[in-house]
Amino acid sequence: MQIVRSSEELTKARAGINGKLALVPTMGALHAGHLALIDEAKRRADRVAATIFVNPTQFGPNEDLARYPRREEEDARLLEDRGCDLLWMPGIEDIYPAGFATRISVGGVSERWEGEARPGHFDGVATVVARLLLSVRPDIALFGEKDFQQLAVIRRMVVDLGLPVEIAGVPTVREPDGLALSSRNAYLSAEERRRAVALSATLGAARDAILASRPVGPALTAARESLRSAGFSAIDYFALVDAATLEPLDAPAGEMRLIAAATLGATRLIDNLALSI
Ligand code: AMP
Repeated sequence: MQIVRSSEELTKARAGINGKLALVPTMGALHAGHLALIDEAKRRADRVAATIFVNPTQFGPNEDLARYPRREEEDARLLEDRGCDLLWMPGIEDIYPAGFATRISVGGVSERWEGEARPGHFDGVATVVARLLLSVRPDIALFGEKDFQQLAVIRRMVVDLGLPVEIAGVPTVREPDGLALSSRNAYLSAEERRRAVALSATLGAARDAILASRPVGPALTAARESLRSAGFSAIDYFALVDAATLEPLDAPAGEMRLIAAATLGATRLIDNLALSI
């Protein structure tokens, strides 16, 4: 696996890659969820590139940018073992050179949920992902369904800007007890980790209730209550949405997602689950 840092090194490395190229953008602190993206990338392309960049513009002023886990050497080893061909770890000046003044803001699907709870977050995501796609020029880029709204925002941006890349979503990888893998799970104390299972369990229970024809409103209220009694505070949202538009549904219809964001101690967790009728 070739490791490059500067934009100049990336340009040279990219010129040497032939065949279909897949890109897996990450913020590092890699886990089996990220590695599932690499596996899927390998199935769908001849060569696989990954990026590790903790993008400051997608963090709010009171969020965890400073303490976000950074494990470059271990990440590089994991990627190499998994068969990744190229790793780009740009510096801040490679992504945002002096004078950088552009922001990509996707409307519609970005506005509710994470967009509301984390103002500016999706502008940061869209801008950095566009920058990474235009720098690496992959044929396909892979993103996790774990960040379901992010995937929808990126799909919208790629269509709207006519970027010549295919976007693929990869199902969420979970711990044996159901907790979705996340770099932020490292923040949880042992006691919080034990309680964290309630997020996926509650999503599952809400799905079962809705599929068993329980009215959506009461099912969501019960879900919020069970999250609170498991020790979650500040439930930003727990909603049933249309899987394509992310607009809230008050009755089941077609392809849907249950989406949730809630805080346990000092750690904000998000998760989602598919359902359809
Ligand atoms: P991050 O490093 O958190 O920015 O995530 C990089 C990519 O990995 C994003 O496309 C995420 O959606 C994806 N990802 C994160 N956690 C998981 C997971 N548990 N399963 C599948 N993909 C994931």
